Amino acid sequence: MLSALEIAKLSEEFETKTPQEIIHWAVTKYFPAVAMSSSFQTQSMPLLHMASQLEHRVTVFFIDTGYHFWETLMFREQLAAEWNLDVVDLHRDPRWDVFVLQNLRRLPLEDPNLCCYLHKVQPMQKALTGTKAWVSGIRRDQTSVRSQAQILELQDDGLLKINPLLNWTKSDVQKYAQEHNLPSHPLLEKGYRSVGCAPCTIAIGANEDERSGRWAGRGKTECGLHTEMFEKKKLTEVKQEFNLEIK
Ligand code: SF4
Repeated sequence: MLSALEIAKLSEEFETKTPQEIIHWAVTKYFPAVAMSSSFQTQSMPLLHMASQLEHRVTVFFIDTGYHFWETLMFREQLAAEWNLDVVDLHRDPRWDVFVLQNLRRLPLEDPNLCCYLHKVQPMQKALTGTKAWVSGIRRDQTSVRSQAQILELQDDGLLKINPLLNWTKSDVQKYAQEHNLPSHPLLEKGYRSVGCAPCTIAIGANEDERSGRWAGRGKTECGLHTEMFEKKKLTEVKQEFNLEIK
């Protein structure tokens, strides 16, 4: 197990490494206790393609929030089959089913942080229990929060988060996609340059910031997987934080 100091030093060294080199290090060191996550959207192709090229078949977690565009779900099916990916769908804790079903349409609009917490953060936390390393596809050029991220990040519970694409830009993603003739998400050509859940994603103009169509006009830029919201909480704490008066 690496110490916090060793992780910080390695992370610094990785600033000059390619994503493939970082992924190779992660898989060599941690397989099978390493997993990737992907939303199978427009920007996800390089990481998924790199996963498909690995000697080991690394598990890829896909969070099925129940609010996805049909195109995303079909794209996930297509890629998993064509690239022989080991994709595992994650779902919300069934203990929230009654509450969510009673608030299904209102929830993403009235309390998107709670909605993301129940549908994305909690399922991912649960899925990562038992793994030692989590490879994500975030980039520094995507949001102000992500601009502060490190390539290796040790979480409080000992999980090592690995962000191999952190230094890539939008152009690097496009270049890699062209070089490897990667398929694109079917909604990309309709102006969805970053695709999340249907109630929280709109099409945008060609010159707009790639993530400006996510939670547009609602003061939210992150789902919580890559922020301080990614923190294990007890049920009572969740209810308290989100002011929920449910049993
Ligand atoms: S992106 Fe929107 S619909 Fe999806 S989990 Fe978050 S708030 Fe809910």
